Amino acid sequence: MHNKIFPIAKTFALLKPFINTSKAPVVEFIALQDKDPFKILIATILSSRTNDTTTTKVIQRLFKVVKNISSLETVPHDELEKLIFPVGFYKQKAIQLKKLPLVLKNNFNGIIPDEIDQLIKLPGVGRKTANLVRWAAFGKPAICVDVHVHRICNRWGYVKTKDPEETEMLLREILPRQYWPFINHYLVSLGQTICKPRNPKCKTCPLIDICAKIKVNH
Ligand code: SF4
Repeated sequence: MHNKIFPIAKTFALLKPFINTSKAPVVEFIALQDKDPFKILIATILSSRTNDTTTTKVIQRLFKVVKNISSLETVPHDELEKLIFPVGFYKQKAIQLKKLPLVLKNNFNGIIPDEIDQLIKLPGVGRKTANLVRWAAFGKPAICVDVHVHRICNRWGYVKTKDPEETEMLLREILPRQYWPFINHYLVSLGQTICKPRNPKCKTCPLIDICAKIKVNH
């Protein structure tokens, strides 16, 4: 369900000056420097549940040793764990990364796919990661919906959905295409600074006059 009269264009216009002063998320930063789908995929997996500072340090160290799928295949598991420490769930991510070369070889001729339905078959890749890789590595239309995008779109009253996947599917229908590449960056920035999960700072928010503040207790 969604609000057909929600002023989405005005919302993005109001957010734009605020976002210009924020840093781009780490995966977008990598994509600007290097369009290598391998690096973008690995950085995206590692960035999940990890702050950008830690992710940036880890990928700089990792990509000096692991430069492509072949070197990921040959790097010893213990060394990989050490290289990616302390990203969130590093032990689990090391297991997933070690499985990646074989899954790619067996299913995709060793090439990283660009379709969501194929990307989510890779170990450690959920819908958010798949969308981010599709957009950042291949420049194809994608909407990266994480907990920030899901929470904030619901607080605005733009959508009424129960989880990020439902939000993604609905946004694919209602969000004008020109906003697809920006929504994740904009709402992650807003969600980390102002529209936090607890105690959102509505008084300092540029959207205070148009947001319905659904389930916000002040
Ligand atoms: S007004 Fe409050 S609830 Fe709405 S987007 Fe801003 S911080 Fe979030």
